[in-house]
Amino acid sequence: MSIALVTTIAELKAATAALLEERAGAGAAESGTLGLVPTMGALHHGHAALARAAVEENSVVVATVFINPLQFGDPGDLARYPRTTEADLALLGEAGVDIMFAPSVEEMYPGGEPMVRVTGGTMGEIHEGASRPGHFDGALTVVSKLLHVGMPNTGLAAPDGSGRPAYRAYFGQKDAQQLALVRRMVADLNFPVDIVAVPIIRDADGLASSSRNRFLSAEERESALVLSRALELLKGRADAHEPLDIRSAEELVRSAPGVELDYLEVVDPDTLAVRAELCQDTPFTGQALAIIAAKVGPVRLIDNVLLG
Ligand code: AMP
Repeated sequence: MSIALVTTIAELKAATAALLEERAGAGAAESGTLGLVPTMGALHHGHAALARAAVEENSVVVATVFINPLQFGDPGDLARYPRTTEADLALLGEAGVDIMFAPSVEEMYPGGEPMVRVTGGTMGEIHEGASRPGHFDGALTVVSKLLHVGMPNTGLAAPDGSGRPAYRAYFGQKDAQQLALVRRMVADLNFPVDIVAVPIIRDADGLASSSRNRFLSAEERESALVLSRALELLKGRADAHEPLDIRSAEELVRSAPGVELDYLEVVDPDTLAVRAELCQDTPFTGQALAIIAAKVGPVRLIDNVLLG
């Protein structure tokens, strides 16, 4: 089956409904499940892992490619963001995705910027949100729209009798704060969709794969490896139930040339609240998430690792 490219919401709905019907038995109870994979394009093997997970678990899969102006604070960053539609279509087709939805800005925001937005509240103002004001409100607003326009019309419950929705959306653990916020949005606002998290995919040298990595020079890339090394250091200490001694990990990051550390924190994986009691001298127990953000040359990088 070759992948279809659609650019309007009407085409998306028609194409999804036709495929669901084609692949279903008779009646709504057998109408299958739909997997949605929201992206901003410039796809790499991290995105491919999301697409493959969705293809494995659903009868029809839609990937969206939309560079959402609402979530960019810096117009330069938006203008620079790589646009690689043909390659994206090929990667998604290879992964077995059925439909790529690549709408224009006008299609998504026909009246200009929306007056009403979804907000992440205080959870959207910490960590990434503190450095990128408005970013998560923009991201949640577009994810909300994409979840709505992608929602299948047929049968609300999955045909496996589990009572779960017949609709799943896939997000990467790479963007831990976005994932936590999307989970909260879906729970707090009763979206009929299951959120599925996909583990971080890394390049061979350990750097978390990202569409922005292509802007790193060879030297900057070498320096950037200190992010995953610092997280590995913390994971080693957590596994050994030693104190995390975050300060020494921060020192390690700051010692790499050209790396400007924004934050390195140990947080609750669901609420992203800082677990100050775990950060320094107390032996590590339980579960937490270590999150890091740094600027390396022109590129802002984020990474994280589950501890315990
Ligand atoms: P983006 O195109 O950067 O907005 O990312 C689209 C989706 O792909 C998000 O859910 C990301 O978390 C996920 N993603 C991006 N990079 C990776 C990666 N290296 N590993 C796993 N998921 C990723």
